[in-house]
This record gives sequence, structure tokens and C-alpha cells, in this order.
Amino acid sequence: MANIPQILHCRGCEILDSRGNPTVHATVTLRDGTQGCASVPSGASTGIYEAHERRDGDKKRYGGKGVLKAAADIERRIEPSLAGLRADDQKAVDNALCRLDGTHDKHDLGANAMLAVSLATAKAAAAYYRIPLYQYLGGKRATRLPIPMMNVLNGGAHASNNVEIQEFMIVPVGAESFAEALRMGAEIYHTLGRILKKHGFSTAVGDEGGFAPNLHSDEEAMDLLCEAIRVAGYTTDQVKLALDAAASEWMPEDSDLGTYHLPKRNEKMSPEQLISYWTSLADRYPLLSLEDGLDQRDFDHWHTLTERLGGRMMLVGDDLFVTNTERLREGISRGAGNTILIKPNQIGTLSETLAVIELAQSAGYGTILSHRSGETEDTTIADLAVATGSRFIKSGAPCRSERVAKYNRLLAIEAELGENALFGNHK
Ligand code: PGA
Ligand code: ZN
Repeated sequence: MANIPQILHCRGCEILDSRGNPTVHATVTLRDGTQGCASVPSGASTGIYEAHERRDGDKKRYGGKGVLKAAADIERRIEPSLAGLRADDQKAVDNALCRLDGTHDKHDLGANAMLAVSLATAKAAAAYYRIPLYQYLGGKRATRLPIPMMNVLNGGAHASNNVEIQEFMIVPVGAESFAEALRMGAEIYHTLGRILKKHGFSTAVGDEGGFAPNLHSDEEAMDLLCEAIRVAGYTTDQVKLALDAAASEWMPEDSDLGTYHLPKRNEKMSPEQLISYWTSLADRYPLLSLEDGLDQRDFDHWHTLTERLGGRMMLVGDDLFVTNTERLREGISRGAGNTILIKPNQIGTLSETLAVIELAQSAGYGTILSHRSGETEDTTIADLAVATGSRFIKSGAPCRSERVAKYNRLLAIEAELGENALFGNHK
């Protein structure tokens, strides 16, 4: 049976992510010896509808965050149910994983263990056929490189400063290629560092590699970004801004949907006030995209926000949709948002990730592949962005290797595609 990519072994181990917390790494070995490996990331501002991330809870190890049980179950429980399956039948593999888990939110095996195996299987199959992952998953038409959304100023749960908005991103929409977009972003990032220093701000960085200074307001952050864009020699037509408010963090799970509480500044806002605030920022700044501008439970106000701003910018659901087909379907029917953030570990298998991307694209929603704040050197999301023709990718600042690894992978894909490479909105 050497001429089919048959799964022989599944192994898991505990490794560390970029914040020094444990996470799951899996290796899938085929009968002919071909291997695929994958590591899964971990979020800090996780949505309440995300699939379950299984942790040991043993306070004597890593403060309870160990993943030894999830990793051990890859050999103990997952291997027996996947051994013998074809690695190139991703749906069969992912169905077997879901059946074995048997829960609605992947509570039993853990989405961390399941995703690691699911991705490692796809990588083993791609290696077996000796083709790159983006081509294995996307076919010959997978030639479009995504535009990077680079998070160069960090706040919220990702930084210990006084900034409430979690991410301020620069988006080089005017670049001609991915390589050029990355260079523009890196130049602006370094310029921003010099400007912050000149104004006496800290240039220490947050979890996603962006600077995390103590600023007086969101407007000050956006003014600094616009200044950095200009000083670096670009215009705000070429490089737009994007925000991830991560507003679900401003409304604790047990509170009602009435009031947002911005924790660092101890301010309160109604949903209507927040929508007006986003509108005023969109009027005054070159804002291309707003992610999680409202709470994950509040489809009604999401609809209002989408009516108000959806015609002129991307309104991205991260905690709102959690890479989940059911959540996205509800959003589509209620006119909430126009773009979905795609984080494979929010749902737990590759097949489900690809299915939600397909649903989004068929409904006219944009798709953005995304890292998590706790990352590893795994670069699968870069290949997934190209495989699915997603227009954007979020992988943090052009700083810190776990962020840059994804961007570097895209550079390599662009070089490999040569003249066939397309970029962003360009033909
Ligand atoms: P997380 O944040 O990985 O901490 O959830 C990323 C995001 O909100 O986009
Ligand atoms: Zn987000």
C-alpha cells in the first residue's frame, strides 16, 4: 500500500508558544515514512463561542496551562481511529476526529489537539505528493497573495499600557506585490518607532510585536500612524489603517448587553455611543477595516453598524463569528458585518475552516486569515490564505519571528509562483 498516502502514526507533544505558554504540536506519519507536522496557536482575547482549548488544569505545572493530556491523547486515542485512513481524504480524517470527540465544542479531545492533527495530516499529504500546501489545498488557481494587515500598535488584552483598542494596523493596499507591501509595512514600523522615541514614548512591544506606548487617546494612536506613513514616504491612499477593537472584552460575559465598560480608562459607553464613535473615526481617518467593533452577542447592533458603515469599509467579525459556519450563517441572515476573520483554532479542524471560508465567499463576505496573540513558528495560515484566495492576512507587526515567519512564508510563495503570482486586488 505504498502508493497511497495512508496514515500510520499520530504523535503529539507539548511545546511552548510565543508567550511561553504550553501548546500542542502534532506529527502525522504515513506508511511510506512521509511526515507532516503542525503546532497550534492560542488566543488571549478569546471569544465565548470558540471551540474548547484543552488544558491540564494541574496548577503545579505552568499554572494549570499544560497540555500533556491533550498531546498524549493524540497517540492514545486519535491514532487508533485515524490509522489506515488516507491522509488526502481530509474530510474523512476530520469527520473521524469530530466523531471521536463527539461534543459540540470539541470539549473532549480539545480543539488544540484536533487542529494540530488535522493540519499535520494535510501537510503530510502535500509532502507525499511533493507539492506545496497552498497548491495541495487550492489547486493550480491558488496564485493570489494576501495583503498584510500589520498590527504595529498594541493595546487591550495584548499590552500592559492604557490603550483600550487592541490593535492598530497598517494595510499597504497600494503595493504592487506582497514583497513590496511587506517592505512598506516594515519601513513604516521602523519610522513609527523613531517617532515614538522622539516624543518620549516607550518602544517596548506587545504580544503581536507592535509597539505598546502609553498614549492619551485612540486618536493620538491613529495620528501617529498617519504621521509614520507620511514620514516613511507614503500616502494614506497607499497605506490604510485598520482597527481591532476586540470590544467583547469590554462587556464581560456575565454582564447584560446594555453598557460597554472600557476597563483601562474606566469609561462607560452605550452601543449607540460606540457606533457613533466608530463612525466619527471612519469620517476622520483612512480607515479600511474595523474588527469586533461591538460585542460578540449583539447581532442587532452589529446590523445597525453594518447599515451605517458597511458600504465603505470592512466590518470584521472575529469573536462574533469564531470561524463557525452556524455563527456566520446567522450573521449573513441578520446583515451583520461583511468580512470574517479566520482562525483555524477557533473551530478545530481544517475541513470546517475551509467550509466557513467557502460559505463566506459565496455570500460575498471577505475572508482574512489570522494568527493568534500566542503563536508558534508554524506558517500554515500563510498557505491557507493563498489556497483560499483570501484578500488579507493578519500576522502582527513585521517584528518577532513567530509573526514574521508567516510573512516570510508568503515571500517564498510569491517567489515560487514567479510571474503567475497575483497580489491583493491587482490582476
Ligand atoms: P487573540 O487576539 O489571539 O488574543 O484572540 C487576536 C484577535 O483578537 O484578533
Ligand atoms: Zn480580533
